Amino acid sequence: MQQGVAASTSRKPSEVVPPREVPSSAHIVRNAGGIATEDALRSLIISHHLLGTREFIVINHTDCGMATFKDEALRKQLEQKTGSYPVVPAHFHAFDDLEENVRIQN
Ligand SMILES: [Zn+2]
Repeated sequence: MQQGVAASTSRKPSEVVPPREVPSSAHIVRNAGGIATEDALRSLIISHHLLGTREFIVINHTDCGMATFKDEALRKQLEQKTGSYPVVPAHFHAFDDLEENVRIQN
């Protein structure tokens, strides 16, 4: 079984085409940017040790919204809207380079 961390996207499922190698029984952990966050890693560890998952892949998509802002700009925007500077989460994991984002998740 394979498990992947995939970027969440507003695209319809039929518009998101997984690589040919991903079997239909794959577990998919989705979050904004396909980031291997602590919570995603928690799911991967459980899947590996309790369900026998042996392979992991990271899937990102083109035109990802996570490449359209910077963490600090979002923090300032949230501060303006709420009156409080957000300290949690520590990182929103915005990125500039899609391929580099996938590489650093491995
Ligand atoms: Zn995205």
